Amino acid sequence: MVEGCSCSGSGILEKDGKLYECVCALLKRRAASMPPFIRTAELRPEHTAHKLHTQVKKSLYVLATWQDMKAIVKAVMICHMNLFVRVTSDNDILHAYVGAMSKKNKGENEATFETVGDFVGPPDLVIVRLNALTRPNKAAAGALEEAMVCRTDQDKPTWLVSDMERPFTENSPAYSGSLWDLMEVCGKVRIAPVLPRNLPTGVFDLEPVETAPDPAPKKATPAPERSQKRSKPQSEQEDDLSVYGVGIKKSKGSFGRGDD
Ligand SMILES: [Zn+2]
Repeated sequence: MVEGCSCSGSGILEKDGKLYECVCALLKRRAASMPPFIRTAELRPEHTAHKLHTQVKKSLYVLATWQDMKAIVKAVMICHMNLFVRVTSDNDILHAYVGAMSKKNKGENEATFETVGDFVGPPDLVIVRLNALTRPNKAAAGALEEAMVCRTDQDKPTWLVSDMERPFTENSPAYSGSLWDLMEVCGKVRIAPVLPRNLPTGVFDLEPVETAPDPAPKKATPAPERSQKRSKPQSEQEDDLSVYGVGIKKSKGSFGRGDD
């Protein structure tokens, strides 16, 4: 029960003869909707106070420790009760993509399987943890790009999170030049570490990640070959992320999903 709530644990308040859900019940419902790794994140005042809360309608590229990011996401989900937030990763997106491809190849009815668009399309805010995918996979960059294009087509915000301790670079499995172009037009945020970065030994809070096998790459990935001359991800950069600049224009047209 939340301190100060007068529901006496019932979760319901009565006012002017009408019944309302109280704040404890709301929080309980919100907690139930959180993935366990978010629900159990350690929340400090610095997380709740972080300005990221005010940016839920913007697409961002965030550099943070995953510990802090989980806490901030938890705070965001508590502050924005009605915001549909999905926390996912390049690995999850690859699985959705590969799964859809294999079902399509088996000739299953297109209406019956989940595509990347079904997966990332509905939420108000999608938070993608980069580099959850650790092994090379030919489809990874195309899958993530498709997800991003789906979001930008709908004008919906996405936060791409690069883990400070294992940053997203051009050597990352899901990296592609065109994805980087999409990232460059996002706002950049670097979150100075709040929680201690050294976990006690023996604690593995991250689920082990397995990469999916490559799908047969028949016209599967719409990743256009682009000029190699582009700015590289400077993930080791400890300074303000504004150094990334915003000079590259959106080039939406060049990676259509091929089905429209
Ligand atoms: Zn209550």
